[in-house]
Amino acid sequence: MRPDPKRLAALNAFYAGRQAPDIMRDAVSGLFGGRVALVSSFGAESVVLLHMLSQADAATPVLFADTQMLFAQTLKYQQEVAERLGLLDVRRIAPAGRDLLKADPERKLHETDPDACCDLRKVRPLETALEDFDVVITGRKRHQTAERSTMEVFEQDKGWRLRVNPLVDWSHIEQGEYIDAHGLPRHPLVAKGFASLGCEPCTTPVAAGEDPRAGRWRGRDKEECGIHIVDGRVERKTEKVA
Ligand code: SF4
Repeated sequence: MRPDPKRLAALNAFYAGRQAPDIMRDAVSGLFGGRVALVSSFGAESVVLLHMLSQADAATPVLFADTQMLFAQTLKYQQEVAERLGLLDVRRIAPAGRDLLKADPERKLHETDPDACCDLRKVRPLETALEDFDVVITGRKRHQTAERSTMEVFEQDKGWRLRVNPLVDWSHIEQGEYIDAHGLPRHPLVAKGFASLGCEPCTTPVAAGEDPRAGRWRGRDKEECGIHIVDGRVERKTEKVA
């Protein structure tokens, strides 16, 4: 069923004040119709949403965008988290080798055109993978950017897909408390100052007091990776990365 404005309004009204694990449970149960997937970067705070998924239905597909430029620690952490949580269907979404050879044979596209690089390595592969799904669960949160500050739990994605954001109103502190309360593993680079994790060439640690995503594309006029699509358009330049 298409997420038309009336349906979105009804869903957001019905689920107002509901706990994230309850929203997750209903999302993976098929209650909202169609095929369901969760998109995860296995980054600094991803384990919160992944844990909720594992509690609701560990067989739900998890789409993991492997740009081929990730930290080795992220790849190792992805495997550890999947095993620890018992995730049964983690799908590694990677760009096609022929596309990389054609557009980025020297692996330096991120230096000259990071938007094109993200499109090549993240956006297009994920969009292709998401064509198989009607409902996508994300870890986006209101506190991340001004643009996301009015974001709802239920949104429209790509015009026809339902996007569900169970952690929409969660803070960094709440996520940290959840990780501690459930004894979940933290990404090893968090302890080294990486508050938000992306590709290795485009991510640096942040100083105390800095925005957690200040280390992403530091010094560049770029704040988001382009994974998220609204009304069929890639959100660019106006939004920071989850
Ligand atoms: S984050 Fe950097 S390396 Fe990764 S896809 Fe985007 S521009 Fe390329």
